[in-house]
Amino acid sequence: MKNKRIAVIGSGITGLSFSVVLKKYGLQVEVYEKNEVSGGALKSVQNDEWLLEYGPNTLLLKDKVVADFLKETGLDKEILIANEHSSKRYIVKNGIPEPLPASMWNAITTPLFSLKGKLRILIEPFIRKSENPDQTVAEFVERRLGEEVLNYAINPFVAGIFANRPEELSLRHAFPAMHNLEAEYGSMIWGSFAGAKKRKEQGRIPRKLISFKNGIQKLPETLAALAGNIHVNHKVQKIEKRTGGWFLESDGCEFGPFSKVILNTPLYHIGKSLFPVSDNDYEMLQKVYYPPLSVMHLGFRKDQVEHLLDGFGFLVPELEQRNILGALFSSSLFEGRAPDGHHLLTVFIGGGRQPELASLPTDKMLKLVLEEVEDLLGVRGEPVFMDHVYWPHAIPAYHTGYDEILRTFKNIEARNPGLHLAGNFRYGISVPDCIKNGIELADQITKDLSSI
Ligand SMILES: Cc1cc2nc3c(=O)[nH]c(=O)nc-3n(C[C@H](O)[C@H](O)[C@H](O)COP(=O)(O)OP(=O)(O)OC[C@H]3O[C@@H](n4cnc5c(N)ncnc54)[C@H](O)[C@@H]3O)c2cc1C
Repeated sequence: MKNKRIAVIGSGITGLSFSVVLKKYGLQVEVYEKNEVSGGALKSVQNDEWLLEYGPNTLLLKDKVVADFLKETGLDKEILIANEHSSKRYIVKNGIPEPLPASMWNAITTPLFSLKGKLRILIEPFIRKSENPDQTVAEFVERRLGEEVLNYAINPFVAGIFANRPEELSLRHAFPAMHNLEAEYGSMIWGSFAGAKKRKEQGRIPRKLISFKNGIQKLPETLAALAGNIHVNHKVQKIEKRTGGWFLESDGCEFGPFSKVILNTPLYHIGKSLFPVSDNDYEMLQKVYYPPLSVMHLGFRKDQVEHLLDGFGFLVPELEQRNILGALFSSSLFEGRAPDGHHLLTVFIGGGRQPELASLPTDKMLKLVLEEVEDLLGVRGEPVFMDHVYWPHAIPAYHTGYDEILRTFKNIEARNPGLHLAGNFRYGISVPDCIKNGIELADQITKDLSSI
């Protein structure tokens, strides 16, 4: 019988989801992770009664495939659904956090957009499709919905998801659903109504914003236990194809042979010495920018905060010229995040908008952040708790021309049969997208292997 052992390099959420599914199909998987724990960007830290998320804070559950996977892995019992107020989101305008409209009446009365801006939204269905097949998010939104929606809705929204600017991202790659509304229906407004039935047929379920009782890390922890064979503290330095299959090298030890190798490492970790890659392909991989980001957790007694913190959090449009991208009202979102009588805020600094701020030393950053939350939320005095984590490379930017990057992945795979690249640099950056992509890759590879 042919060798069907598979190696996964990197235990990010994609690699873990992939490994769990393969194990279910009875295949042998070995996972090599350079860090002490699995999970990549997913990391929760319990510090006394404060539960902190260093990476993702919430998962937007909207795909049946992902919901079914959580059920199969038993994780559905650990799910924590965000507080009902979480649908309330604030956007800062003229220094005041204003709620994003949640009803038609709010949409008419909101101070976020002027009367002219609101009327501009109404003509969206009559705007013609673009001839440009790869427009930026900013070009698309400004053309279809006007400058105010770009500046006071999409600019902060993109900062909240990609830690980046709408001018830096390709609509088609970063927000394919938005792109498809125009491509299929000629209008975002009509498309949102007309597409509802189609989305259901495509396996969409009612959206739920979730985390887990002991934090997001419950997800990789559970998947790692189910996948088994996780070799932590194993940085893979070399991958090589020889007679018999693929071999890996980690700190002088050799592992193999494997019939397939899945590379779930971020692109900036793919050094030239890892496997034979042409100069051109290597350059392409390095073109993908991961902006730096800082996450600062601040704890306050409730009597120190004037704002009700009744919602998901607030985002700051670039035009407001502030030193933070936004903040989550973490202890309002999920229970068990702060001691009784306290609030936990999770503040984001830097990103593609202000990369120079992301790497400030903690004391300087704290000063800036405190000035902002004092002004925006009426926070008084020193925090009773503080924690700061720096991500030198946070989230890959799907820039215009990303087709070339996707082609590079395919070139590399074609030149190295049995090697696959999988992670948030391909087909979606959200945790649910990574889970879905991991599952789909596992299905494809199982089929490939059953035919040999
Ligand atoms: C601060 C932040 C906030 C976010 N917030 C959200 C959110 O709220 N909701 C959401 O859905 N998404 C969010 N995301 C995005 C999401 O978390 C990531 O896109 C996703 O987790 C990436 O998963 P991945 O499978 O690509 O692997 P990664 O998380 O990139 O993991 C790759 C793994 O490979 C390992 N590795 C690297 N090189 C080697 C090597 N040579 N040998 C062995 N192992 C190696 C690394 O140690 C790591 O464990 C956020 C991301 C960040 C950074």
